[in-house]
Amino acid sequence: MDYSIALIPGDGIGPEIVKEAKKVLDAVCRKYHHTFTYSEVLLGGASIDVHGVPLTEDAVARAKASDAVLMGSIGGDAKTSPWYQLEPSRRPEAGLLAIRKALNLFANLRPAYLYKELQKACPLKEEVIGDGFDMIIVRELTGGLYFGERKTTEENGVKTAVDTLTYNENEIRRIAVKAFDIAMKRSKKVTSVDKANVLDSSRLWRKVVEEVAADYPEVTLEHMLVDNCAMQLVHNPGQFDVILTENMFGDILSDEASMVTGSIGMLSSASLNDTKFGLYEPSHGSAPDIAGQDKANPIATILSAAMMLRYSLDLDKEADAVEAAVQKVLTEGYRTCDIMSEGCTEVGTSKMGDLIAEAV
Ligand code: NAD
Repeated sequence: MDYSIALIPGDGIGPEIVKEAKKVLDAVCRKYHHTFTYSEVLLGGASIDVHGVPLTEDAVARAKASDAVLMGSIGGDAKTSPWYQLEPSRRPEAGLLAIRKALNLFANLRPAYLYKELQKACPLKEEVIGDGFDMIIVRELTGGLYFGERKTTEENGVKTAVDTLTYNENEIRRIAVKAFDIAMKRSKKVTSVDKANVLDSSRLWRKVVEEVAADYPEVTLEHMLVDNCAMQLVHNPGQFDVILTENMFGDILSDEASMVTGSIGMLSSASLNDTKFGLYEPSHGSAPDIAGQDKANPIATILSAAMMLRYSLDLDKEADAVEAAVQKVLTEGYRTCDIMSEGCTEVGTSKMGDLIAEAV
């Protein structure tokens, strides 16, 4: 099959890690007889340097014309980079927020998977880790408290601030459908996280999630209060498959879940709209401290490319092959410096990409 992919190398280590992900995708093409046509898109500091703005209309148009977008990361060192002398709306991060909005990306996916080989980096005790964990957090990204009305007033010298948490049933339904669709590709369990004992928005959330669940009889649904979920993530993380939650709860829980895996260079992510289209990127930033030194771990970006194969292109077999290749290279003892441990072989960014591409 033929697919078109927009590549956003971005800034810092971005170009290095995207290059390695492309190597792995090229290996997938050779093995499974697909053709990927790439179009390179400038975003963030790289776009400021050429166009004076962090995102152009042409960049958005090219992203929209593709089947999916694969991104490295954007941004520079806020203390030294000239990009941060610009007003906030012209800085690199403004470009990222603008492209997410332009592409209507309302669903954020963050997997948290513990590789046995990297268990030492996990801050949890061995008896808590058990057989490991493999979950994905599906977070609503464009509604809730972060997008509701807000104001600060003052009366009789006393300041009062108000933020509003609003969800309508359509916003809840579309993210719930995403979570159940994803569960169908995994272990068929959804844990919907809310605060239904207190919040009206959570009670509506629960009702709509139950309506959606009726269309997925094979998927087991459970509800969990957010305070309990925060505890369960460090008490028994192995119980989770898909965690479905609203914007603010998801913001906090996805960072907690990624911390328990212990290695930032390994964490992929995706943001999807209501078609199959999505933007795939590692969870980490552009790491300007190690840019251009062949030190960056490309695995988070390579695993993001695997998510792209699975969720935007429906190439599950190919996604499995990339994930198995990462597993094989770790089992063989190869590590970039961020995940290096005794007895392993240290390799650079480019060699890690070569090894994973070969293993595909
Ligand atoms: P960061 O994630 O870039 O780096 C934090 C630490 O982790 C650094 O020591 C870095 O060297 C290390 N690290 C990160 N990724 C690594 C990898 N793949 N391999 C090995 N080590 C890795 O976070 P930061 O330093 O707070 O931010 C740097 C820049 O990235 C800032 O401009 C920030 O705005 C931007 N940023 C961008 C995104 C994005 O593009 N979505 C996300 C977060 C931060």
